[in-house]
Amino acid sequence: MNANTDWRTAAANLCADGRSLINGQRRAAKSGATFSCISPVDGRVLTEVARCDQSDVDDAVAAARTAFEDRRWCGLAPAQRKRIMIRFADLLQAHGDELALTETLDMGKPIKYARGLDVNSAANCIRWYGEAVDKVYDEIAPTASTALALITREPMGVVGVIVPWNYPMIMASWKIAPALAAGNSVVLKPSEKSPLTALRMADLALQAGIPPGVFNVVTGYGVEAGSPLALHMDVDCIAFTGSTRVGKQIHVMAGQSNLKRAWTELGGKSPNIVFADCPNLDKAVEAAVGSIFFNQGESCNAPSRLFVETSIKDKFLEKALALVPRYAPGNPMDAATEMGAIVDQTQMNSVLRYIESGKTEGAKLLAGGEQALRETGGYYVQPTIFDGVSNDMTIAREEIFGPVLSVLSFADAADVVRRANESVYGLQAAVWTRDINKAMGVARALRAGTVHVNQYDEDDITVPFGGFKQSGVGRDKSLHAFDKYTETKTTWIRIDSPV
Ligand code: NAD
Repeated sequence: MNANTDWRTAAANLCADGRSLINGQRRAAKSGATFSCISPVDGRVLTEVARCDQSDVDDAVAAARTAFEDRRWCGLAPAQRKRIMIRFADLLQAHGDELALTETLDMGKPIKYARGLDVNSAANCIRWYGEAVDKVYDEIAPTASTALALITREPMGVVGVIVPWNYPMIMASWKIAPALAAGNSVVLKPSEKSPLTALRMADLALQAGIPPGVFNVVTGYGVEAGSPLALHMDVDCIAFTGSTRVGKQIHVMAGQSNLKRAWTELGGKSPNIVFADCPNLDKAVEAAVGSIFFNQGESCNAPSRLFVETSIKDKFLEKALALVPRYAPGNPMDAATEMGAIVDQTQMNSVLRYIESGKTEGAKLLAGGEQALRETGGYYVQPTIFDGVSNDMTIAREEIFGPVLSVLSFADAADVVRRANESVYGLQAAVWTRDINKAMGVARALRAGTVHVNQYDEDDITVPFGGFKQSGVGRDKSLHAFDKYTETKTTWIRIDSPV
């Protein structure tokens, strides 16, 4: 399905089920309460969604606990779990059009990326951890010959997962895939702003053969459904992706309750540093502009602070401005659209407030700065570029999570590294130079979980994703993610050898 008309017709006919999924059954919230799921594409109500609260979370956790204790999932051989996970991934691919359409209608990203990136990436993640789980070995410690010491990994039990709305399927899969592959039971709470694809993922997991109770989804608001999960005395681990503000509360809730393991993937304000000896200026410009406007700027790792060496700044900005029209907001259902709708009115207003602060604090607006496509009833913001930004301005310090690029200039490597690191965040960074010594020296000095060199945002499932400082605790992706969802056990066996 590729033609615009097909997606629009399919969109008009989409019939989404907003009930939660607990113990293998779709069900309304116990209270009967719902909330409206509004599409940012045009402001229409897509469906009513179960507004779960403590009692629904209790049921989901109880189902997950029972499934864990009777070993219906963790008791399977890793090769059996692998086969089911791969079937799950295949089903995500088979339902790719429906999932992509749902994602686009629910959170506003262009359909071509929902289909080409989000679905494929989520399916690939599920498949990768399924494939990995019967290839990872435990350890034997190098003890004296009087002992055999086994270091084994065991699933933690019940894992609570709370995710945001910017890449709903991908963010969920980064956590549920390693958690499920390791044998845990999961209770997932998607964002209230984008709950629909998580529910369909859980339907398809059941269809693939993941037993009822192993993968549950409770929908609802953060305080009503998220907090009860993070505070729950029978949840062994909480894996959170979202804002730094709520992430800090998650660690407090873990401490206030049962000291559950708490992992947080949080915000960013990533610096993108372009030296005058950058090997390919056009590529650097494309990446700087493309990566901040991709996904409407709603990416935790968006390179929102662009540092350009003073001697090339004018040329760089001229080229950057020439690319801006490509990102004019459009209907996400159109194949040509590069930038779609902001997730909801609240987020759009927040982005517009940041733009106002940029203006009043003295930054120079070079492009955009306004709401767009008001007539659609949806929520769109023009791609926006500010020059003359300094580190003390709000738009240089705070995460905007919208299509707003702040441009700063610098004189030398020491100066730019100091200013790039002057942030509470440390998620990602980039450096562009043809000098390998400069590239490596700057990459080492930058306080970030990932440093890109002469590209931005190229990566895959084999490498960890996460941040330094207030960008969070722990890493998603790669084999390192298994550390979050397994406990290490030592079994020390005495050997009194007769020989
Ligand atoms: P958010 O923190 O507002 O919400 C995230 C999730 O937490 C949602 O499901 C929400 O319902 C829930 N929540 C809210 N309050 C809660 C509470 N008191 N208790 C428990 N749960 C609660 O974030 P958001 O606006 O959905 O997402 C945007 C943020 O996510 C940005 O800061 C972005 O950088 C971050 N993010 C980080 C990564 C990463 O890997 N580091 C990836 C994607 C997004």
